[in-house]
Amino acid sequence: MKTIGYASHSAKDDLVPFHFERRDLRENDVAIEILYSGVCHSDLHTIKGDWGEQPYPLIPGHEIIGRVLEVGPKVKKFKTGDNVGVGCMVDSCQTCDQCESGEEQYCRNGMTATYGSQDRISGETTQGGYSKHIVVREEFVVSVSDKLKLSHAAPILCAGITTYSPLKKWNIQKGSRVGVIGLGGLGHMGVKLAVAMGAEVTVISRSNKKEDSAKALGAKGILVSTDENAMQAAAGSFDFILDTVPVKHDFNTYTPLLDVDGTLVLVGQIGFMDEPLTVPLVMGRRRIAGSLIGGVAETQEVLDFCAEHDIHPVCEIIKMEEVNSAWDKLLNENPDHRYVIDMSTLSLN
Ligand code: NAP
Ligand code: ZN
Repeated sequence: MKTIGYASHSAKDDLVPFHFERRDLRENDVAIEILYSGVCHSDLHTIKGDWGEQPYPLIPGHEIIGRVLEVGPKVKKFKTGDNVGVGCMVDSCQTCDQCESGEEQYCRNGMTATYGSQDRISGETTQGGYSKHIVVREEFVVSVSDKLKLSHAAPILCAGITTYSPLKKWNIQKGSRVGVIGLGGLGHMGVKLAVAMGAEVTVISRSNKKEDSAKALGAKGILVSTDENAMQAAAGSFDFILDTVPVKHDFNTYTPLLDVDGTLVLVGQIGFMDEPLTVPLVMGRRRIAGSLIGGVAETQEVLDFCAEHDIHPVCEIIKMEEVNSAWDKLLNENPDHRYVIDMSTLSLN
């Protein structure tokens, strides 16, 4: 299928229109017309080379909402016209213990990312959601409930699952004291989801500029990480902290905020492990953990959870041609919500 997307041709280039082919349907494939595509900070990290060399030209995007156009003969779960989502993965080995337990993101043989990976069968480079169409094997497509607004659901596919998964894993529930560092795309979903699970949530931000947004999301307030007195006063007051900071940083700024046995989970950009693990960890038997997105079943679970609890990401809908300026703003203005591309603004020609 001939289609179009926005690709970058190098780590330094802007995204530009790019005509390309999506593969012919395999028997277990679903062809999807993409309606909305969220803009994740990982798209920038990848394209700009923060995570190493990439196979350019490359189309980013892994928060995809669309409608099924056609299905292969062996597809069972979907039919033409269904509303569906695709997240950060489009394939995995499907046979290892991790895949069998629904944690394809930790596939022993390496999952296939939605963009920038090699297709397991043809070897071609996978291309992401800033495009009109995508073809994905059935196992990596999730259903989108009618209760969700299609224009405001895309960020659940990455920002939602990436924050939901550790909140569930660490058993966040009524009364849990949760801190979310960084009020951006991931952070704002982390707040909404933790609040819906009954937690008492505080946003840990570099200033109090986002206080109103934090409260509107259900947080009890902001702890300003650059205010040393406030940070000292908050020592030991969190059971769980989700760190979404997208740059190299020293987590020793935040670990003293954990209570005994508390956990800080890194989901933001890693790359600062040259920092020694120091006293706060040892003195509190605290843990630092990492977490990578979530499995397909759990992605379905978070979509259904959001539908059930009427949770919608805060989205600013943009035109395709506005994507480069949205990336600039993501880097320089730190918006407290998600940009989502309305794919109808990209014409096929
Ligand atoms: P985002 O929308 O840009 O939000 C990041 C937030 O971090 C900003 O709004 C800002 O919040 C804070 N921040 C920015 N620069 C900072 C700095 N120098 N020091 C301290 N805080 C800073 O990004 P996102 O889309 O939420 O993604 C966040 C990170 O998660 C990215 O690194 C992304 O690659 C990663 N990610 C990981 C996974 C995973 O599976 N583990 C999945 C998706 C994304 P304040 O203004 O409130 O301080
Ligand atoms: Zn993402």
